[in-house]
Amino acid sequence: MSLRRLRNNPRMRDVSVVTEELKNLYYKRLLPIEKHYSFHHFHSPSYEDADFDNKPMILVMGQYSTGKTTFIRYLIEQDFPGSRVGPEPTTDCFTAIMHGEAEGIIPGNALTMDPMKPFRNLDHFGNAFLNRFQCVQLPNQVVENISIIDTPGILTAAKRKLSRGYDFPAVLGWFAERVDRIILLFDAHKLEFSDELTRAFGALRGYEDKLHVVLNKADRVDSQQLMRVYGALMWSLGKVFLTPEILRVYVGSFWSEPRRICDHYQLIELEEEDLLADIRNLPRNAAVRKLNDLVKRARLVRAHAHIISYLKQEMPTIFCKESKKHNLIYQLPVIFTKIQQQHRVPAGDFPNCTKMQERLLGHDFSKFKTLKPSLMASLDKLLSTDIAKLMPLLQQQELQKASLPGTLDGKFLGTFRPTYYKSDPFKEVPREDETGEEELDEWSVEKYKPKYDEIFYSLCPSEGKLSGTVVKGWMASTNLPNSVLAHIWRLSDLDCDGKLDNEEFALAVHLIQGKLDGHWLPRELPSHLVPPSKRPRKDNEE
Ligand code: MG
Ligand code: CA
Repeated sequence: MSLRRLRNNPRMRDVSVVTEELKNLYYKRLLPIEKHYSFHHFHSPSYEDADFDNKPMILVMGQYSTGKTTFIRYLIEQDFPGSRVGPEPTTDCFTAIMHGEAEGIIPGNALTMDPMKPFRNLDHFGNAFLNRFQCVQLPNQVVENISIIDTPGILTAAKRKLSRGYDFPAVLGWFAERVDRIILLFDAHKLEFSDELTRAFGALRGYEDKLHVVLNKADRVDSQQLMRVYGALMWSLGKVFLTPEILRVYVGSFWSEPRRICDHYQLIELEEEDLLADIRNLPRNAAVRKLNDLVKRARLVRAHAHIISYLKQEMPTIFCKESKKHNLIYQLPVIFTKIQQQHRVPAGDFPNCTKMQERLLGHDFSKFKTLKPSLMASLDKLLSTDIAKLMPLLQQQELQKASLPGTLDGKFLGTFRPTYYKSDPFKEVPREDETGEEELDEWSVEKYKPKYDEIFYSLCPSEGKLSGTVVKGWMASTNLPNSVLAHIWRLSDLDCDGKLDNEEFALAVHLIQGKLDGHWLPRELPSHLVPPSKRPRKDNEE
């Protein structure tokens, strides 16, 4: 099943009502307090319009050669610029894969200038990072509704000598705060936990609810090995995350190559469907996610305001400022407890104490602001009533969601409509059309058709056509992933009647053959692959 059904999602519009309201609340209630108490110097830069308006984002991370880039290519069903794949450090960039009318690459420095993109305040991480950050724009249907962030492979112990020149965990943390889903890939074939990985996990703390783990390449091991690796993974994750039981681990094999036959083949297939369904649902859950993150942030801001104003109040006016400051930093754990009791702020809302101590060292406490009751009242109003008022709006969306007739969970076959692209011809087919005179092309499949016809007639067509069920059964025997087969079906059922005639079937077999030979599928059928009887007549053209 493919992600492409994300397109034209009618729910994207409803979602914007809630996000507009969230934006208002942020600017009106939260931002003034953030500024007043220098929140941005301590925790995270301010939100901007693009942080609310952007499409759901997926952060894909993992150690080297766990299959991050391949996983993304699998999701979007195409290659993308800069997606060199290999076992050695290939992607050492953060790459945002986003939608664009034309294919192109925007470098990091330019990205932070673009007010339409949610990356403006990444410039805090400096040039060493920006040189390793880029955006790839693609006219791809999947990324029309979801943006995907590919990350540099996390270094294994042996390769740790290389320094990155920027704060890698901090960058991961920045993304973790803003994305809708974090996909963490592990290689079932060689599972290992490096210290850089452990440090990267630190950046994900607090966002465990967004984290989904994929044990990739599971078809390369037998069931017994898989069980051991799965156990080892859960044990290791349990040491890093305090709440390992909420982490969802998928057993998967996200390849575009044929999957190896193994005992747990069906398990992999089910898991893949689950994960893709989760990703397909991200756009409609985006508003809930944003609301969630805003509440999380508001609670941290409240704790932060109390900490800063407490420190200010403890500072002497003239003498011994420096020694008092160090004394206060030393006592920070005790201060946290005091504030929790005095102001009834839950302990879970507080930032990491050690990190806060480090950051406080560089600040002049006498410049801090005292507690401003009007600002705090405004913040309490946000948390107690404003957010609650948004709930009915969200619930309304839930109801609408329920009444949508199976748009996102329809059946594999027979429910697709064709879509028309203008680029990306099936690469290895000769006689690529350059003149635009489509009608003069021969049908590239013609010469193989007798062979394909044999299969067609052996499947007993009724009234000259094979039903979706019959074709699906036959296609499954190729061991290609369902998403690839769904794509091939979409390209082949040209008249969208949910059945294949002999020409459409020949085309399908031809595409499968190409895929098995290792070629990427075209996103839209190039003219030389369209059977003559299905080509548009000239007088229909604009
Ligand atoms: Mg990569
Ligand atoms: Ca058909």
